[in-house]
Amino acid sequence: MKTTSILYLLLLVFFSHTNYAQSTVDDPEIKKMVAEVKSENMEATVRKLVSFGTRHTLSDTKSNTRGIGAAQRWVKSEFDKYALKSGGRLTSVIDFFTIKADGKRIAMDSQLGNVMATLKGTDPTDDRVMIISGHLDSRASDVMDAKSDAPGANDDASGVAAMMELARIMSQREFPFTLIFVAVVGEEQGLYGAKHLADVAKDAKWNVVAMINNDMIGNSLSSGTLLRDNTRVRVFSEAIPYLETEAESKMRKATNRDNDSPSRQLARYIKTVTNQYVEQLDINLVYRNDRFLRGGDHTPFSQNGFTAIRFCEMNENYDHQHQDVRKENNIQYGDLTEFMDFEYMKKVTCSNLATFSNLAWSPKAPTNVGIEVKDLTNFSTLVWTAPEGKSVYGYNILIRETSSQHWEKTIFVKDTKAEIPYSKDNFLFAVQAIDALGHSSLPVFPIPIR
Ligand SMILES: [Zn+2]
Repeated sequence: MKTTSILYLLLLVFFSHTNYAQSTVDDPEIKKMVAEVKSENMEATVRKLVSFGTRHTLSDTKSNTRGIGAAQRWVKSEFDKYALKSGGRLTSVIDFFTIKADGKRIAMDSQLGNVMATLKGTDPTDDRVMIISGHLDSRASDVMDAKSDAPGANDDASGVAAMMELARIMSQREFPFTLIFVAVVGEEQGLYGAKHLADVAKDAKWNVVAMINNDMIGNSLSSGTLLRDNTRVRVFSEAIPYLETEAESKMRKATNRDNDSPSRQLARYIKTVTNQYVEQLDINLVYRNDRFLRGGDHTPFSQNGFTAIRFCEMNENYDHQHQDVRKENNIQYGDLTEFMDFEYMKKVTCSNLATFSNLAWSPKAPTNVGIEVKDLTNFSTLVWTAPEGKSVYGYNILIRETSSQHWEKTIFVKDTKAEIPYSKDNFLFAVQAIDALGHSSLPVFPIPIR
C-alpha cells in the first residue's frame, strides 16, 4: 500500500471518529438488516394474500383457501416460521374479540381477530413497547360486500407484507424491549382491530413509545393526474395531540409547541433515519393525522394518547382503491398486483426497518428536559436528567428555526446541561439520548424552568 493510501486511511479513521462524536455514525448491523429486505419476499406475500380472493372482515372464516380466516391462519403460520429462528423469543397469536353490530358497517355481532407476533425484549427492566401494523382486511366497491373479489394488493397487503418482512428480519436479532408486529382487521369497517389493540394497550398501561401504521405503500402512480413518484413517501402525524390535558394545552400555547407533538417528533425522527440509511427515498412530512377527513389504524392509538404515525404512498390511485375488479371503457379497475411498484414498496419497508431498529436499540429518552428562562440572554441553556437503563454515550441537541419543518443543526454533548449560542426566541430545540453506535431515542421538547 502506498504511503498516501495509508495516510488517507488514517484520515478516514480520524474523520469517522469525529463523525462518531457527532453521532452521524452508521450502525453496520442496521445497514446489514436493510440489505436483507427483499422485494421478491414482499411480492410473494402480496400475491399470497391476493390469492385468498377477498379478505373482507366479514368474509368466510372456515375455508382454507378463500376469505379472512384463511388469510389470518396463513399470516400466523408465517410468523411461526420466523419464530423457529428466534430462539423462542417470537410468539404469535390470533387475538380474537367480538364486535357488536353497529348499524353501519358491522351488520351483526361478529368475531374479529388481529394476527399478532410479539418479539420479547431481552431486558426485563425495560418496559417500552413498539408496535408496527398493516391491515389484513380488504374491500370491494360496496364496503358491505363480503363475497366479491377484493384483492387488496396495495390496500393493504402492501402494509402487511412490510410488517411481515420486519418481523422476519428483526426476530433474528435481540432488542432490549418488546416489539409487536400486527396484521389488524376491521380497518375498512371502522378501524375496529386497531381500536381493540389500542384499548388493550391503554387498559394494560403498556409503555408504547411508538406505533407505526403502514397503509398503502406500494403504488407510485396517481390516478387522473398521472404523477409518478417513487422517491417520496408521506408520513402523517398529528399536530395537536388528540389527548391533551388542560395543563398540557396551556404549556403548548405558552411554548409555541404546535408543530412539536410527540407524533411529529417521531415523524421527523423517521425522516432523519431514512436520510441516513435509505437511498432515493425522501420522507414527506404531512402536518395532519391522516388524509383530509380520513383516518387510519394509527388514529385509535393517537386517541388513546400514544405516539403514532402513518406511512402512506405519495400519490394514491383511486382506480385501484376500494373498487370492484372490472373493466370499463378499457380501464382496468381493482386493487390488483399488476399495478404494484415493488421496488418502491421495498424502499418504504427499508425506511420502516431502519427507523424501528434504530429506536429499538436506543437508550430511553432523557427526562425532565427543560430550558432555563430566569435571565434574559441570547444563549439558551438546556438541562435534563439522564435516562435510566441502557447506558448513554451522549446527547444530541436538535435545533431548527421556528419556520423550518425539519431539524437543521445537531450539537452533540456528553453532559446533561448545555449552553448553546442560539436564542430561544428564534429557534426550537429538542434533546435525544444516544448510545455509542448512534442509536438515538425520540427527541424530547423542553419545558421552561424558572
Ligand atoms: Zn387501507
